[in-house]
Amino acid sequence: MNTKLVQSDEKGIQQAVELLQQGEVVAIPTETVYGLAANALDGKAVEKIFAAKGRPQDNPLIVHIDSMEMWKTLVDPLPPEAVQLAQAFWPGPLTIILRHKGTAAPEVCGGLDTIAVRMPSHPIAKEIIAKSGLPLAAPSANLSGSPSPTEAKYVWQDMQGRIPLVVDGGSCQVGVESTVVSLAEESLVLLRPGYITKEQMEQILGKPVKVAGAVTRMLEQGETALSPGMKYKHYAPNAEITILKGDADQYRNYINQHKEEGVAALCFEEDCRDLSVPVVVYGKEKDFDSQARELFSALRHLDEMGAKKVYARCPEVHGVALAVYNRLLRAAAFRVVEL
Ligand code: AMP
Ligand code: MG
Repeated sequence: MNTKLVQSDEKGIQQAVELLQQGEVVAIPTETVYGLAANALDGKAVEKIFAAKGRPQDNPLIVHIDSMEMWKTLVDPLPPEAVQLAQAFWPGPLTIILRHKGTAAPEVCGGLDTIAVRMPSHPIAKEIIAKSGLPLAAPSANLSGSPSPTEAKYVWQDMQGRIPLVVDGGSCQVGVESTVVSLAEESLVLLRPGYITKEQMEQILGKPVKVAGAVTRMLEQGETALSPGMKYKHYAPNAEITILKGDADQYRNYINQHKEEGVAALCFEEDCRDLSVPVVVYGKEKDFDSQARELFSALRHLDEMGAKKVYARCPEVHGVALAVYNRLLRAAAFRVVEL
């Protein structure tokens, strides 16, 4: 298949809308990462997303909407807490899971009786949903298992020949995927941390938000995944990543004692000095937003450099940094060394 890369101007958006209405898959920018979009009401279109990504069929997709009315066509009833969260954080990077009413294609939900929905804030994503008039199922636009793409060139690398169109909307502002919460259980549970933090949601809801254990550790043997995506390998570059937990001095000492061929450092801007191996930076130590924005492109960059073994400076585990830690932990296949 011939893949076209177009600008996000009127012509590019029109092409995207037409292809989506014809049941094709189109990569579009969102504020989190690039998404691989298709009509969520059309099972055949949704199957093409799974095929293009090589994504396991039981891993459900997030549906992107542009209005509360569109949400109501998918989910019924809307519990008060869901409406509260939507009013506070939509449009924006928060995904809400609720029981569905059977209108979306079953392929979207991976056979579950629930559906994940969010309203993106990216102007191009909003315009494409509005003009097509369709709820769009859209996982990240990478090959399954690879780092999520935050720039059109990385979508192109993974999706060339697999989909007809990529819409270039520049770099993604947030850089990590949406926060995912489930309201389908008895009490609200955070399944995936993101730019909307646990602390922000607690403030809106006026009560503590439970975090699924698998957010910061590997699933235990026999443990049921609250979210099917928790079972799978994620975000991994070719290089083998190890997270080093410790302060800047301990990090520098460890790396300088392990400077073999093919070793690289993945660290904060402040750590760059005095490291005797190639360095890739992901944000500033105290600026969690910058870490989120830069992590995935840093992982891709390490592969471009041909790094074999990467030692990563460990992020913190609160606020937006919890999302960064969650992604990096999976990219590192849970390899962590306490310094
Ligand atoms: P991605 O589309 O790659 O950003 O991933 C979406 C994440 O949301 C995956 O981890 C899915 O397993 C999870 N997810 C989507 N729909 C549901 C659902 N109905 N129940 C639980 N988890 C879901
Ligand atoms: Mg993904």
